Amino acid sequence: MSFPYEAPVSQSLFDRASAVTPGGVNSPVRAFRAVGGTPRFMVSGAGPYLTDADGREYVDLVCSWGPMILGHSHPEVIAAVQEAVARGTSFGTPGAGEVELAEEIVARVEPVEQVRLVSSGTEATMSAIRLARGFTGRPKVIKFAGCYHGHVDALLAAAGSGVATFGLPDTPGVTGAQAGDTIVLPYNDLEAVRAAFAAHPGEIACVITEASPGNMGVVPPLPGFNQGLKDLCSADGALFISDEVMTGFRVSKAGWYGIDGVRPDLMTFGKVMGGGFPAAAFGGRADVMAHLAPAGPVYQAGTLSGNPIATAAGVAQLRLLDDAAYEKVDAVSAEVRGLVTAALAKEGVAHRVQAAGNMFTVFFTDAEVTDYEGAKAQEAFRFTAFFHSMLSQGVYLPPSAFESWFVSTAHDTAAVERIAAALPAAARAAAAATA
Ligand code: PLP
Repeated sequence: MSFPYEAPVSQSLFDRASAVTPGGVNSPVRAFRAVGGTPRFMVSGAGPYLTDADGREYVDLVCSWGPMILGHSHPEVIAAVQEAVARGTSFGTPGAGEVELAEEIVARVEPVEQVRLVSSGTEATMSAIRLARGFTGRPKVIKFAGCYHGHVDALLAAAGSGVATFGLPDTPGVTGAQAGDTIVLPYNDLEAVRAAFAAHPGEIACVITEASPGNMGVVPPLPGFNQGLKDLCSADGALFISDEVMTGFRVSKAGWYGIDGVRPDLMTFGKVMGGGFPAAAFGGRADVMAHLAPAGPVYQAGTLSGNPIATAAGVAQLRLLDDAAYEKVDAVSAEVRGLVTAALAKEGVAHRVQAAGNMFTVFFTDAEVTDYEGAKAQEAFRFTAFFHSMLSQGVYLPPSAFESWFVSTAHDTAAVERIAAALPAAARAAAAATA
């Protein structure tokens, strides 16, 4: 397809980036490979807006893939960062900021009795799995096709259809041995989980699931699914790990746990809790966390873990996220969802907007999406046309049909009006698109 707006400065930065960085980006989905065209190099963000290197402004519906729930450059977060940075950037010792952030997490998420801070969601899930294996003395991990838990070797396996399938590495560089203890099952299929436990008695260390998946697009758990996972784990002596890197502190004060109330043994967090800085965490039952070094034998560490600037940003952001803030984000999300539905329906485009709290995805299908196979069955080519029309009109969507859209407390009437104004043409483009 042709791309209506040129972005010469971004293009020249992308050319330079491509010479020195594989694919020109430091995280693959930023490269626009799924939709084509030139990735926009952003230079600043304010409230609901991003400005690119060519000086064009966009309403941001990515919000840094979730973290910027207060919008960009929130004055109180920026002030906390400036205050922290003036005191030094890293000490390699304990600091008060880490205690404050840990206390904030423990206070919000009731199943978290103890928490360990790390620097990325990947580290959080990797460490939680090591801890689950160390605690149970068992090797195997159950995960679900379409759930992403970061680029942990053992979790980069997404295999097979209906039946329990031993994980095949999804990427070169992950060996069969690394993925061989991973069992990949279809999402929302409790029978498959039951069968896997029956086939491997006493071997399964943990089940890890996105609390409510956002990485195949937003595909919420069917009623009873998370509770069923928890019950199967408890009956077998395995741990239930709920990955709330995306949902944590985003969909409610206590994340998805605050919505469905299913009590995990371990949880992982990232994104929102870092206020735009690299901060993440894993935590849960105190008796399990007690196995972590230096309290226990399971090793885990990090030079920049609990970094003073990241923790200052995280504490400032979390303290601003009160009930009113979530009400505001939920309301904006509902409004945007309604506008998208109206625009697509007007053009007769088959679609389904699926939400989990304020996270949502517009799937280009009219069937309910309950697993990865369903997500892949959508007419993704319509998203490509829709995406480029929105981009050309100054609305920045995630550059893939398999991602959540994110809004913030800063998405005010003016921002929503800009989205509304862009939608009719984007819906027409989606209707006219061909595979
Ligand atoms: N878990 C989930 C549910 C995620 O969405 C992500 C990232 O998108 C991760 C883990 C990995 O986090 P990070 O990118 O910070 O390593």
